[in-house]
This record gives sequence, structure tokens and C-alpha cells, in this order.
Amino acid sequence: MTGNITLTMIKPMAVKKGFIGPILHKIAEGGFRIVAMKYMKLTLEQAEKFYEVHRERPFYQELTEFMSSGPIIAAILEKENAVQAYRDYIGATDPAKSEAGTIRALYGTNLGMNAVHGSDSDDNAKVEADFFFSSLERF
Ligand code: ATP
Ligand code: MG
Repeated sequence: MTGNITLTMIKPMAVKKGFIGPILHKIAEGGFRIVAMKYMKLTLEQAEKFYEVHRERPFYQELTEFMSSGPIIAAILEKENAVQAYRDYIGATDPAKSEAGTIRALYGTNLGMNAVHGSDSDDNAKVEADFFFSSLERF
């Protein structure tokens, strides 16, 4: 079964470069509805918890330090088959390899600073949405 929500973050470098507006515009253009959204800064401990699944990966420390280095936008997006639809829409993990016109190709800096996060499964979308948002913050 396919779910209808995914969790995205606009990562610190994209925020710093002034891309919040353009990225939200792109998200709307792609037909994703914003269910919940916040502007916040993760602590290192929160970033470590969010990326727990990557704890054994060599880039874990670099990733969690970067993700807690500045403010982010976190949002729940809704669309039919949202997880796969959004991953297709943002493009490959490495912006240099992302298809032209995708969010990462347009707004990514490099592999670590690839503009946005997108959930990789329906189960993780739920876990990640619950990490950021209570039921009172979803519309
Ligand atoms: P995301 O989970 O952010 O949507 P993804 O699912 O395409 O991206 P993952 O394999 O889950 O990619 O990696 C999580 C994040 O870790 C990537 O978005 C990227 O910013 C960072 N990352 C992945 N591989 C590397 C690497 N080799 N060096 C540095 N950072 C990396
Ligand atoms: Mg991932």
C-alpha cells in the first residue's frame, strides 16, 4: 500500500542561501499540499536522533553537525504516493547527478548540502512526521 504523506526538511545551506521561498513554490507547483510546517533549529542531539538509522555510516557526524548548524524548515507534505512522488521530484541524492529541474539540481550545493530531505518509506514518513509534529500542528 502506498501512503499519502512524506516528511521534508529544507536544509541549513538552502535556508542560508535564501531558497525557502523558491523551494516552497516548487513544492506547491508539484502538487504537494502542506499539512504541517515549522521553522526551527535542531540541536545536535535531535539531529542524531532523526538520523539514527545512519549512525553507522561514515558521514553520520558530518551530516548531524551540518543539520544542526542553522535553521531548517520541516514540513509534512501530502500527495498520492507522496514518498516516491517527492523523491522523484527532488532528484538524486547528489545534486550533480540530479535530473535537471529537480529541487536538488536547482538548489543543492553538494552531496551533504543537497537542499532538502525526503522520507524514504511510508513507515519512515510516519516516524519522521511524528518526530516534528503533534496532531494539533497538522491541518
Ligand atoms: P535524504 O534522506 O536527506 O532525503 P537520501 O535518502 O537521498 O537523502 P541518504 O542515503 O538517506 O540519502 O543520506 C542522507 C543524507 O546524508 C543525504 O541527503 C546527504 O545529505 C547525506 N549523505 C549521503 N551520503 C553522503 C556522503 N557520502 N557524504 C556526505 N553526506 C552524505
Ligand atoms: Mg534518506
